[in-house]
Amino acid sequence: MYSRTTDDYQSMSKAGIEVIVQPSFWLGSPRTTVGTFEDYWEHMISFETQRSKEFGIDHYVCISVNPKESTARPLALNALKAMSEYIDRDRVVAIGEIGYNLINDLEDELFQMQLDIATDKKMLTMIHLPHVNKKEGLKRTESVLKNKSLLDMTNKILIDHNTEETIEKTLEIGCWAGLTVYPVTKLSPSRAIDIIEKNGLEKIMINSSADWGVSDPLSVPKVAEEMKKRGFRTSDIEKVTFYNAFEFYKQSTKFLWRP
Ligand SMILES: [Zn+2]
Repeated sequence: MYSRTTDDYQSMSKAGIEVIVQPSFWLGSPRTTVGTFEDYWEHMISFETQRSKEFGIDHYVCISVNPKESTARPLALNALKAMSEYIDRDRVVAIGEIGYNLINDLEDELFQMQLDIATDKKMLTMIHLPHVNKKEGLKRTESVLKNKSLLDMTNKILIDHNTEETIEKTLEIGCWAGLTVYPVTKLSPSRAIDIIEKNGLEKIMINSSADWGVSDPLSVPKVAEEMKKRGFRTSDIEKVTFYNAFEFYKQSTKFLWRP
């Protein structure tokens, strides 16, 4: 929501959205100082929570040095040090998004350091899959989880931006699987529903892209509408567009929203 207007909040409220979780994302242009990370986290935790409240929407945050911003040195490492001040704040329900974007060693360093923070703090983790070379990104993610003995902690890990290429593997690993829906590019509503038809409803959650590019914070209600047209049961629609995400995030003691 950092990149969106109050018009978006208004439409989201009208579409029935009652609670949102916003991950730390890319500023849109390169950050040059640790201060912009700090201002961003503070803005999300306090200002954005208040802004969404004005539209009747409860707002939570995942905090991280984003994969796309994790290759700068020494900036990314300094930002990570500064992040410790924000992790224990109210509203921060997970570490995320973290993981690979270009899939290189600099990203790997920040990914592993942030996984360690999540483990130490017993926090939920949200992992980003790259938009290109997804299979390779997932393979490397799995080996990191394995090396860190996290494969028995998969109920606390969400792997996001799955497609037809990765969904089976993500579910096989045992993690929660996010399908990030875009209006046209990447994953459209109908493609996301095809994936659900093929792979079932367990541990899969739909989320809306809402970023600097062509994206739509109403993707979740649009998928729900499309599922209804295709004849899915209401309880099944609610499971993938809401309750699975709820089951995941309510594992955080700071996630207070209840139906
Ligand atoms: Zn992402």
